Amino acid sequence: MGNRPAVICALAASEPALKIAVALIIELINTGTELMLGHTLNTHQQWLCNRLADLGYSVTRQVAVPDTGPEIQAAVREALGRADLILTTGGLGPTSDDLTRDLIAQLLGRPLHENAKVLAHIASFFARRNYPLPAGNQVQALVPAGAQVLWNPLGTAPGLALEVRPNPFRPDGKVSWLIMLPGPPRELRPMFTELVAPLLREKLPLEEAFAGRTLRTVGIGESALQAQIAAPLQSLVAAGMELGYCAHSGQVDVRLAARGNRAAELVADGEKTVREVVGPSIFAEGDASLESVVVRRLTERKRTLAVAESCTGGCLAHRLTNVPGASAVFLAGLVTYSNEAKQTFLGVRAETLAQHGAVSEAVVLEMAEGARRVTGADFALAVTGIAGPGGGTEQKPVGTVFLALAGGFPTVVRQHLNLWERETFKQVTANQALELLRRALDTTDHGQSGQPV
Ligand code: AMP
Ligand code: MG
Repeated sequence: MGNRPAVICALAASEPALKIAVALIIELINTGTELMLGHTLNTHQQWLCNRLADLGYSVTRQVAVPDTGPEIQAAVREALGRADLILTTGGLGPTSDDLTRDLIAQLLGRPLHENAKVLAHIASFFARRNYPLPAGNQVQALVPAGAQVLWNPLGTAPGLALEVRPNPFRPDGKVSWLIMLPGPPRELRPMFTELVAPLLREKLPLEEAFAGRTLRTVGIGESALQAQIAAPLQSLVAAGMELGYCAHSGQVDVRLAARGNRAAELVADGEKTVREVVGPSIFAEGDASLESVVVRRLTERKRTLAVAESCTGGCLAHRLTNVPGASAVFLAGLVTYSNEAKQTFLGVRAETLAQHGAVSEAVVLEMAEGARRVTGADFALAVTGIAGPGGGTEQKPVGTVFLALAGGFPTVVRQHLNLWERETFKQVTANQALELLRRALDTTDHGQSGQPV
């Protein structure tokens, strides 16, 4: 299931923040013909810009180029002409279109040497999987002279960090750092967080103090959120705090950032204000997902969960099981799409279905209670709705959703109208279900007996 909900980000027009000088020139070069063909969404662009912003660095330019020698070399040469830091992604793999390492070494006149430790890592990567070492993978052990190896425990391609000194391409004579990162997101992301971020702090420290905080909210629309928090934050924004919003399906991140001597104080005051106004809707800080928060809360409280899904088609179970450690708390997910499945697997009564229809308060209640009963879970979430584009009626238009949470207290039912195309509809509905449980777990008695808020 693609889990790439639409993301809309905006930076509130805060004049003082926009006037802050960007001290370092940072450029991002995403390589890959698949990006040019639209086969792969360039998530590195968003992810790396986001992470760098969280650390106080602003990307000044980003380009994507196909896997061809002239294009990659031209992009790197051009960036080396002005940037303090250049990050490249992709092209470190074993296939014939993975050219980045060779092309950069050639451009800089640095010979490539086989690194015995990297080769041993690659060999053990395959040995652990009972595969012979493919000849093509040996090229991944080639390291340009003077480059620092960024270890990649999750794959075979190490990242490479190079200080280009002297930098023959830069008229101002300054040095540049060139960091090559692997293409697969599951390898690039931890490598950036664990190795590149500390390297940047050491080699390219910020000139001014920086503080940043992202507060993740769910259940409030972007405009409604802004209407609530903009005025209380006005004086902090006037004092130089940057305020940004980033909307994902059903979730909005509030980003607070500041630079200079008062940076930490401004952001701390900003956070306090946002928490005062919309505290209960904040589910996490940073980039933690709603499902990871729910799994963590359940784990802490030693409580288990089952889900019964109709219109979300397994999206809830998918998201929950993406969280490492979910098996400690997640017992079962039943995708009961047809009326018969709801009866057979959850014990929903034929009369209830006939009288109220599959998308109804009465059915979702029986789904949740049935799921709890058949699985023995402490909590059960149930979801039924009309994703559309067909199937709506006057009383129950397309987008109608019923959610229920059963947990040993009177079962709670919620109704929503989620007017989105099917994929976003699933994500938004899953968010609402997870939020229902998160709030229940946040009540003072830890959701043991009481009524969720
Ligand atoms: P590569 O190391 O260039 O062979 O890339 C390996 C895989 O990483 C590609 O097949 C893509 O699936 C993924 N990938 C590469 N670049 C990106 C990108 N900019 N955004 C998201 N995924 C990418
Ligand atoms: Mg590639």
